[in-house]
Amino acid sequence: MTLQQIESFAAGAWIAPGEGARLIRSAVTGAPMAEAGNDALDVATMLEYARSRGGPALRAMSFHDRARMLKALAMEIGKHKQALYDISFATGATQKDHLIDIDGGIGTMFVFASKGRRELPDGYVYLDGEVEQLSRNGTFLGQHICTPMPGVAVHINAFNFPVWGMLEKLAPTLLAGVPAIVKPATASCYVTEACVRIMLQSGLLPQGALQLVSGGLGDMLGRLTCQDVVSFTGSAWTANKLRSAPHIIENSIRFVSEQDSLNASILGPDADPGTPEFDLFVKEVHREMTTKAGQKCTAIRRIIAPEGQVPALIEALSARLAKTTIGDPQLESTRMGALVSASQKRDVLEQAAVIGGEAERVYGDPENFTVHGADAEAGAFVPPMLFHCADPDRAERVHDTEAFGPVSTIMGYRDIGHAVELANKGMGSLVASVITHDGQVAREIALGTAAFHGRLYFNNRDSMKESTGHGSPLPHMVHGGPGRAGGGEEMGGIRGVMHYMQRTAVQGSPDILTAIGGKWVPGAKEIDAPAHPFTRKFGELSIGETIHTAPREVTLADIEHFAKFTGDTFYAHMDEEAAAANPFFPGRVAHGYLLLSFAAGLFVEPNPGPVLANTGLDGLRFMKPVSAGDSIKVRLTVKKKTGRNADYGEVRWHVTLTNQADELVAEYELLTMNAH
Ligand code: NAP
Repeated sequence: MTLQQIESFAAGAWIAPGEGARLIRSAVTGAPMAEAGNDALDVATMLEYARSRGGPALRAMSFHDRARMLKALAMEIGKHKQALYDISFATGATQKDHLIDIDGGIGTMFVFASKGRRELPDGYVYLDGEVEQLSRNGTFLGQHICTPMPGVAVHINAFNFPVWGMLEKLAPTLLAGVPAIVKPATASCYVTEACVRIMLQSGLLPQGALQLVSGGLGDMLGRLTCQDVVSFTGSAWTANKLRSAPHIIENSIRFVSEQDSLNASILGPDADPGTPEFDLFVKEVHREMTTKAGQKCTAIRRIIAPEGQVPALIEALSARLAKTTIGDPQLESTRMGALVSASQKRDVLEQAAVIGGEAERVYGDPENFTVHGADAEAGAFVPPMLFHCADPDRAERVHDTEAFGPVSTIMGYRDIGHAVELANKGMGSLVASVITHDGQVAREIALGTAAFHGRLYFNNRDSMKESTGHGSPLPHMVHGGPGRAGGGEEMGGIRGVMHYMQRTAVQGSPDILTAIGGKWVPGAKEIDAPAHPFTRKFGELSIGETIHTAPREVTLADIEHFAKFTGDTFYAHMDEEAAAANPFFPGRVAHGYLLLSFAAGLFVEPNPGPVLANTGLDGLRFMKPVSAGDSIKVRLTVKKKTGRNADYGEVRWHVTLTNQADELVAEYELLTMNAH
């Protein structure tokens, strides 16, 4: 039988396995199917290729260019996903599992593509937070900027999600403008390799932006510099070994770590049998135990329930687990496939035995279970195993032993404080869930447990139809956790992109900060608009382009007219005596919204032109009241421009209203869509 050759992609060429190649067996049949790895891989050249080719090419693209590239890549993978499904069965995964891995990975890329376009500038520098006022007169200011690291990201992934695990790291990395070298776990690297081929063959990626190591990394980590990043997912043992290497420590090389996690799920004291919450809890726990045969970093390992509900819960969960058909993942009737390998099976059984030292197995016998359509001995099959720990206070192993398979331990709690204590005994996890319909229970548990868990997932009858599941990390939300979970964070929208960028505090004058950030900073020089800015197309407008309007007097008749017209007859506008008694007003004052409307009347250019729509305003502040007889004038400045599509882009205008004494009356940012 010929073995499939799983290649690496190094410095622009596909490299076949060679000396040191490792054998990969089918999870389902145990038969040898492929080999991967080559000790002669030139990792120094790979790093150089990424740094000298991929990095510069990616950094020459704007954030939006890269976001568009991500979207196109996600679409390309989507077109070929059937091929990825087909080869993924050999990892033991079912079609439902593929949806999490492959469709989930594609979806994650789409989210980063869309967030990149909406939340990052159409430029090269990401501004983190607002300008900081560092001087009395505003001539010396501060601003945090983020720029891509000029190195390379080395992604070391776990075996369980060969596609999602790669894409959830790759999307933020490429969006940041950093090239990646991906090293999947060998056991399932053939799926990752196929996905990498799809991306490379699409021609969408610049050369050097993506390389692949199938097999071992050699001494790559020892060649990294302070401008490189390692993002690791896997066991705590490997993570600790790699992150504590002297070279990594001495050079302060960023090391993002996602590792073991003893995730908990708490059944609220209100969720008695018969409530929708009890049924929901059983459903969620069952799903987390059996999806991907429990090989999920977020799977529920510890089930924490009111002591009185433990027998009912064991009964309900056992009944549900008994209906879980185990077998060949390609069979439609199969609900749970195999573990990824025979060694993983050995490991799970060993860890289950450790848990068994402190807890009684109440469901699932690895010596006696039925496997449909496959050989139970040859494939890496195990049954779901439910344990009951009667004394979770004295027990230790149930709180620190991760059997990375369909294994979970149920334990009873006396009161909420006790439930919190048990949940936190995992010493840091990726996610804890709470099924309750009681807001106070949720609050108490959140305050008691949040610091120990990267994500808290609450669910009940109100949210269960649309909820995404305890075990689903979402690209919008942070994935990672403290302590045992590795202390890392991934995804979380643009937060995930920041792992591949350096945040730098920049100090200087308003003009300097405007030049660096590409966003006009108040106090920077104004550019006289050559014509009314509303008559100028998106591309013609310059940052800092400004108009000053003529003044307009605000009369008492205006205030009364506005009050009657809108119905806003608040006493501060209508009653001199009552208004004067208010600490904020000298007497009757103009409505803030009247001032905004007058401002628009002062700066607007009425004829059809490039301004297509006013889409909102941000940061509105009224600083000084305006009384009848005062006059206001407006300064309108182009602050920031963000391309949206081929037809138009968004212009953010800085608007100030001042009175006859040049005192600031109001300030805000106006948003318009302008045609190209
Ligand atoms: P693992 O054995 O620690 O392997 C993880 C990765 O590290 C694999 O790609 C592995 O490659 C690589 N690796 C091992 N030794 C290395 C070395 N000396 N230098 C460079 N790379 C090395 O973990 P696993 O068995 O694949 O995954 C299961 C574990 O991952 C579980 O503990 C699970 O909790 C954890 N996990 C965590 C998350 C999370 O997001 N927190 C997600 C998924 C899984 P080879 O396969 O080639 O050895």
